[in-house]
Amino acid sequence: MSLGCDLTVLEELTSNAKQIQDDVLNKILNANANTEYLKRFLQGSSDKELFKKNVPVVSYEDVKPYIDRVANGEPSDIISGEPITAFFRSSGTTSGNQKIFPANNITFENILFAFSLSSVVMSKHVEVYKQGKVMSFTFTQTISTTPCGLPLAPGLTSFIKSEYYRRLAKNSTSPYQIILCPDTKQSMYCQLLCGLVQRDEVVSVGSVFASVLVQVIHFLENYWKELASNIRSGHLSEWITDLSCRESVSTILVEPNPELADLIENECGQTSWQGIVTRLWPKAKCMEAIITGSMAQHISALEFYSNKLPLVSPIYGSSEAFFGLNLEPLCKPQHVSYTFLPNMSYFEFIDVDVEGGTTSGEVLDLVDVKLGRYYELLVTNFSGLHRCRVGDVLEATGYYNKTPQFRFVRRKTTVLSVHLEPTTEEDLLKALARATVILESLELMLTGFTCYGDVSTVPGHYVFYLELKAKVNNNSIDDEVLDNKVLVECCRVMEESLNGTYRRFRRKNGSIGALEIRVVQQGTFDSLMDFFVSRGSSISQYKTPMCINSAEALKVLEDKVLARFFSDKSPPI
Ligand code: AMP
Repeated sequence: MSLGCDLTVLEELTSNAKQIQDDVLNKILNANANTEYLKRFLQGSSDKELFKKNVPVVSYEDVKPYIDRVANGEPSDIISGEPITAFFRSSGTTSGNQKIFPANNITFENILFAFSLSSVVMSKHVEVYKQGKVMSFTFTQTISTTPCGLPLAPGLTSFIKSEYYRRLAKNSTSPYQIILCPDTKQSMYCQLLCGLVQRDEVVSVGSVFASVLVQVIHFLENYWKELASNIRSGHLSEWITDLSCRESVSTILVEPNPELADLIENECGQTSWQGIVTRLWPKAKCMEAIITGSMAQHISALEFYSNKLPLVSPIYGSSEAFFGLNLEPLCKPQHVSYTFLPNMSYFEFIDVDVEGGTTSGEVLDLVDVKLGRYYELLVTNFSGLHRCRVGDVLEATGYYNKTPQFRFVRRKTTVLSVHLEPTTEEDLLKALARATVILESLELMLTGFTCYGDVSTVPGHYVFYLELKAKVNNNSIDDEVLDNKVLVECCRVMEESLNGTYRRFRRKNGSIGALEIRVVQQGTFDSLMDFFVSRGSSISQYKTPMCINSAEALKVLEDKVLARFFSDKSPPI
């Protein structure tokens, strides 16, 4: 399916969603009817109605044994008619455990198509997009192999290292060889250096997820003096030992540039880092990174650092499949919806209620969803997943031509519960948004957030870990700056915005204890990311977990607690 990539294609796809989805399903069923998996339910038929009637809706755990068999060396046709050529490892930070997903040539073609189309959409909305360069922080990991010798890596790494990536029109300040460097620290340093040297060409600053952009800015805070010194002398620091990185940097940092070094020192040495991105990259027109879902916690920090450049959340996808594009890239992060691309996979939607419970359990086709309803997403892809739950809850918000658009609501699983209350990611984000407003009135910026249900106390209670930073002098905060009254107020408004069940348990019978905020030292969330990356997460796909379940990850946070605050009254019901 090598479709050309321009706006006409987008119009065609979105105007014919129903037909295209039917064709996609037909194609998948024709290719896979004789796999061991589908034969169990369809006895070799590729009839769509039979598929809907007989093939069960499953979770990853249900198909894992089949996937593992292929990864261990049994033939691909256990699950897929098309040969499986690679496995994608999911980040595992949202679900808690890493999963592996089969991929084949169509998977790679789809990613290529979606990225190309996303860039076409950007060019339509950001005038100079095609004329300048994108400073896109991209990282890859080493590819390992499954027991049968097939490559295993995060989806983005596999794609970047594949031949398909070469076909993607690129205009990035980061040379390819630097992106390939497996040492994140060396790679990040060199990508920043190259981005600074090419500052006048940069029209957009990005990474896949917003958390990585925040991490890059923290890295710049620690390394700007050294970066400026390298630029002043024209020599790269000796600790960059990766030869490909050195070679690539030498093609960009070709001579000493004292004027640029002065400028960097001048801008980065100022007491406030407000607008640092636009000060260092004055031609940047936007920041591009996924900023919806759990990434929404980074909105205020990025707005601060970029002086409110538009934050563009361009794509929605996962290791299972590519889903959709944001066709109004310059809209506010709070209003982002993704238009599904009907040629990517076959999509179905289970009606769920706002609290996450299944309602009628009705499974709808893409074109049959109803605006304003919440759905759990199911995917049937070209590489062996059939009616598999992705674990995301979406709200149908509108149409582009005849294709529905969705707002990302949250991961499906209830993330916090210390009694019987179902607190979701969305509840937490709402609570956090209210606390952020109070913190901003104190010129404090939120630079990291996660939480945990502490049931070691009786009754159990919620613990929110916040990493804060003073906006004015770009300093880390110490406990003297932390105004007890204001933080207690934050605890209170957070409780007020949690769901009714939480508030009832908290108020009526004391089944839930007072909400607690633990403020952690600056850099704690970088350490948390290092912890997950050391466990095999890919930095490019890393998402700060909304809620911590692992005792070891909790220890990373606990070691850095500066101060604790508790809500001082029960929320109204
Ligand atoms: P992974 O398979 O590790 O890449 O993780 C995929 C998951 O990341 C998705 O199922 C979503 O939960 C989340 N995700 C991906 N794109 C977005 C987006 N645009 N907005 C919110 N969450 C996203």
